[in-house]
Amino acid sequence: MANNFSQLAKKSRNNVSSSKVKKEALENPPLEIFKLGSDFLRTDAKRIGKVDLDIRNLAKDMLKSMYSAKGIGLAAPQVGISKELLVIDINFEDSAAEPLILINPEITAYGNTLNSYEEGCLSIPGVYLNVIRPSTIKLKFSDEMGRPRKMNAEGLLARCIQHEVDHLRGVLFVDRVTSTEDLKTELKKEGFQMKDVVPYSQS
Ligand SMILES: [Zn+2]
Repeated sequence: MANNFSQLAKKSRNNVSSSKVKKEALENPPLEIFKLGSDFLRTDAKRIGKVDLDIRNLAKDMLKSMYSAKGIGLAAPQVGISKELLVIDINFEDSAAEPLILINPEITAYGNTLNSYEEGCLSIPGVYLNVIRPSTIKLKFSDEMGRPRKMNAEGLLARCIQHEVDHLRGVLFVDRVTSTEDLKTELKKEGFQMKDVVPYSQS
C-alpha cells in the first residue's frame, strides 16, 4: 500500500515482529514491484509450509523494496512471488518502530462499522482513491519464526492489512472502488487502463 497518511501512521504502533532492515531508500532495491496489468498481481498466492531462512530473507528484501518505494505495505505477489507473505510498516518514518511480517495471514472477523478512506498501491503508483472497508478486524498469522499469532487491528493498520491480504487473492484496491468515474480519471492520469481492473464482487 502506498503512503499518503503519515499523520495517522504516527498515532499507531506495534511491536509484533522484528527485522533489522534500515528504513531507507536504496538506489537498487532487491525486488522489482510489478504494476497494474501484470499477471503476477492476479495470481492466487500459496500458503507457506515451513517458515525458514529463505522466507525471512524474502521478507527482508520485501521490506527494503517497500521502504525504497516509500510504501507502508507490500505483498509477495507484487514482487512476482506467489506466497502468502506480507510486510507492513505504518510507522515507516519512525526508525525505532518495528515492521510487521505476516505469514499465512487470515482475517477471522470483521467489525460492523465501515469507513471510507483514500488508498494507494505501490503497484498502481500515483493513483489514490476512496475505498470502503470494515474499520476493525481480527487476524491470525504466523510470525517470521513460524509462531502462530493473533491480533486485533483498527484504523490505518486494519485498512493496510485488508489491502495487503487482498493482494494474496489477486484483488487490487481499484477493483473495490465504487466511483467508476473517479477511477477512470485517476487511472488515465497515470497511464493505467480500465481493462486491467476486475470489479470486485462478494460471490
Ligand atoms: Zn497494494
